[in-house]
Amino acid sequence: MSNNNSNERFRKDIFLHNSLTRKKELFEPISQEVVGMYVCGPTVYGEGHLGHARSAITFDILFRLLRFNDYKVRYVRNITDVGHLENDADNGEDKLAKQARVEKLEPMEVAQHYTNSYRAQMAKMGCLSPSIEPLASGHIIEQIELTRQILDKGLAYESNGSIYFDVQKYAQSHRYGELSGRNLDDIISGTRDLDGQSEKRFSADFALWKKASPEHIMRWPSPWSDGFPGWHAECSAMSRKYLGETFDIHGGGMDLLFPHHECEIAQSTAAYGHSPARYWLHNNMITLEGKKMGKSLGNAISLTQFFTGDHKLLDRAYSAMVIRFFILTAQYRSTLDFSNEALIAAEKGLFRLLSAQEALHKLDKSQITGHKSQNELLNKCLEAICDDMNTPIAIAHLFDAVKTVNSVVDGKEKLSAEAISDLRMAFDLVLGELLGISTQEGVAASGGADEALGGAMELLIEMRSEAKKARDFATSDKIRNSLAEVGITLKDRPDGTDWELKK
Ligand SMILES: [Zn+2]
Repeated sequence: MSNNNSNERFRKDIFLHNSLTRKKELFEPISQEVVGMYVCGPTVYGEGHLGHARSAITFDILFRLLRFNDYKVRYVRNITDVGHLENDADNGEDKLAKQARVEKLEPMEVAQHYTNSYRAQMAKMGCLSPSIEPLASGHIIEQIELTRQILDKGLAYESNGSIYFDVQKYAQSHRYGELSGRNLDDIISGTRDLDGQSEKRFSADFALWKKASPEHIMRWPSPWSDGFPGWHAECSAMSRKYLGETFDIHGGGMDLLFPHHECEIAQSTAAYGHSPARYWLHNNMITLEGKKMGKSLGNAISLTQFFTGDHKLLDRAYSAMVIRFFILTAQYRSTLDFSNEALIAAEKGLFRLLSAQEALHKLDKSQITGHKSQNELLNKCLEAICDDMNTPIAIAHLFDAVKTVNSVVDGKEKLSAEAISDLRMAFDLVLGELLGISTQEGVAASGGADEALGGAMELLIEMRSEAKKARDFATSDKIRNSLAEVGITLKDRPDGTDWELKK
């Protein structure tokens, strides 16, 4: 958990774009000791897709950067397992309940299944685990308490057993729309007229508590009705529980900025007088031919499909590290357009960087002697990452250094031992520690190496089996032993031969 101070001499000020002020600001934590960061996690009713990956990776970079700067970070990322309805206007079926009906499962079985797969996929993509991953369904009491406080302040009302936030009344003394920059008239004109809206006094009001219909499975008792919390309530209640009424950073995808985060600010302000977080950060979307990708839009490719290549839009499979690297080739606030060409380019780029890193570790140190350097490459990369997580600039600096590494490897250029050790340190810290690219998985998967190795192994196993059939044991043993020398073990089974690469 604790960091040593070895990075101290490279530490720099961090600047972050704050959606609340629409400015890039110097990051100044409330406490020098612990930074509190809350990020909206997934609604666990379906497979993880690129959008999930981009959000998790964006805030993983920030988590890593803060830790690099020797902060202790409490990183809370919630799991939404109740209350997220099919549309954002408090209507339609609960997303989880609907999936459970389709899959003929208990809603909590659906939640467990997709929570497990989300965690496994994010780990595979090199994301560190958050410090706390609270479930919405485990914090019903806190959400009821928040609702009660807002009712007590007169900023919510009961209607047929449901409780709604009174946006109009709130807007008389506060600015509803301060995060999204929308004014109330725009918000009203953007609100669709939907069935059941008659329960609300005003179209922009949102549910804090919903009375459950008789067939609704996920329900809890409350002072008002048997029901379930409104979607926005969980993040206000859980961030307050684990990070306090004022914490440093609140993050999420840009699609959550309105209404979700706007409602969170209104809820906290109504309950205890101010916005919960100081810095609001939003990552942009991943598009496909310029259009948003999403489950509800029917053009989403799941992460599993990326890993297997099993989707009509994919030319082939891509490794988790290639997807991570692809995401980091754009600054998190820019849109990123997906294509097979872009992923293949990312794969080639990653392979070049990892090969250079590997070469640096093998380079002979006894080159020429030189004066002590300031590790210019590391400083430049850190400056870029500290500048609102400008990862593409950091990556560009690494690519520039690859040229130097390659000419040293080719013997065209000579560097001092210090310069080589600086380069090595910069690659290890930037690529590994800060960008979170793990070498083993990255190298094995880059450049289609997996596929090529599989094909070569098939051929060798066949040659060995033919040699054995011809009783040419010298050849068959030679194949087995030579493979063992490079770390590949063959295992004979009654129906054939398997192979295993020792890492
Ligand atoms: Zn949230």
